[in-house]
Amino acid sequence: MIRIGERIVDLFQLQPGTPVTARGWVKTFRNSKETGFIQLTDGSCFKDLQVVVDGGVPANIGTGACVSIRGELVESPGAGQSVELRADEIELVGASDTTTYPMQKKGHSLEFLREKAHLRVRTNTFGSVFRVRNAVSWAIHKFFQERGFINVHSPLITTSDCEGAGAMFGVTTLDMQNLPRTEDKSVDFSQDFFGKPAHLTVSGQLEAEIFATAFSNVYTFGPTFRAENSNTPRHLAEFWMVEPEMAFCDLDGDRALAEEFLRYVIKHVLDNCGQDLEFFNQRIDNTVIETLEHVANSAFEHVTYTEAVKLLEAANRSWEFPVQWGVDLQSEHERYLTEDVFKKPVVVTDYPKEIKAFYMRMNEDNKTVRAMDVLVPRIGEIIGGSQREERHDVLVDRITSSGLPLEPYWWYLELRKYGTVPHAGFGLGLERLVMYVTGMKNIRDVIPFPRTPGNADF
Ligand code: ATP
Ligand code: MN
Repeated sequence: MIRIGERIVDLFQLQPGTPVTARGWVKTFRNSKETGFIQLTDGSCFKDLQVVVDGGVPANIGTGACVSIRGELVESPGAGQSVELRADEIELVGASDTTTYPMQKKGHSLEFLREKAHLRVRTNTFGSVFRVRNAVSWAIHKFFQERGFINVHSPLITTSDCEGAGAMFGVTTLDMQNLPRTEDKSVDFSQDFFGKPAHLTVSGQLEAEIFATAFSNVYTFGPTFRAENSNTPRHLAEFWMVEPEMAFCDLDGDRALAEEFLRYVIKHVLDNCGQDLEFFNQRIDNTVIETLEHVANSAFEHVTYTEAVKLLEAANRSWEFPVQWGVDLQSEHERYLTEDVFKKPVVVTDYPKEIKAFYMRMNEDNKTVRAMDVLVPRIGEIIGGSQREERHDVLVDRITSSGLPLEPYWWYLELRKYGTVPHAGFGLGLERLVMYVTGMKNIRDVIPFPRTPGNADF
């Protein structure tokens, strides 16, 4: 039970001479002549508390051990730290088998640490990552709550096969070794738990639209699942998505909100995670702070898809995926636009209807839809959004011409029958944002326990 005021971050605020008890885990220690030094961390801040032990660190205390140390704060001679702890009494709370403890002082590769997800959280890098992730989550709620958005808890299990945003994971209690069959030999899902095929959600958007037609401005913030077998540094099978949805809003309003939102979260991290950002800037990517400060203070660029394609065609590059009007933009194209052409976040709008979802609002030209993707340097797409088709008959047309059956969309269509309203929203992948603000290069290193093809350990 850490008492407030006794976390290490709080101890750094106290005056020399204060008697305190510090609790945490031994990150490293060393003995020099008659004096021992322990670097103690409890995860509350980037800086470790240095503990000075007269007579040396007791032999039963090793790296990784959990300790409670009573003593007095003294002025620290070391640069960059206000106080250190002179130990009077060290209680060993939990010993550590130092001969096998995998977290060694020398530092480890991020790949190695992924195999040690239960211990990697004690390292500098992951301490900083998860404090920043926490700050980002808090800033997201704060941003929407300050603006009167209602938080909606959209379901994780669904039998509505509406979204089509990606491959879905099935949810079933049927016995895989002995599947019930119908007369025509297909699986008899009427005997399954939900009476029909069920899946993990790929997006909370359609449910958020329901709530937006009752509460005006809403947002979801929760886990999302995609069974895409893409082994990239930017894709997870389970990730967290933030999805605001706003009634009485068009694409311009949606774009303005996305920009204000990203700037707000970035400012919050700059204001509250100074030491962690300093670490990322020194050890992970030395442009991180400069980039965030730049983004926090400058307007995003805006181009239409058609303009973006012209820029890509004019680029003197050999693309892996050739560009012409009508193709979906690949990561290489997105990164070129944001990293080389504009050197800042770019919002691309008005994509061809063929490459976007059926629910996006049709433009006058009948060729493009009111979609937007927000692209940022290093990551590419961080947000995907759109104004939704609110016209009942146009939506019916779009569903049928996309080759989809109308029946499953009955309730989605009824929203357009009973008090329809222009509305818009977007989806932000939390992990992509955390990658962006930390400079971390692999999405597996910004979520506590990554789920990717072949891996759901811990
Ligand atoms: P991408 O083209 O990068 O695969 P998408 O177009 O499939 O993304 P959307 O369906 O628009 O993505 O989802 C909205 C947001 O969710 C994306 O902008 C991205 O930030 C995030 N996202 C999508 N898929 C993943 C994933 N597999 N892992 C992590 N984040 C994701
Ligand atoms: Mn998208």
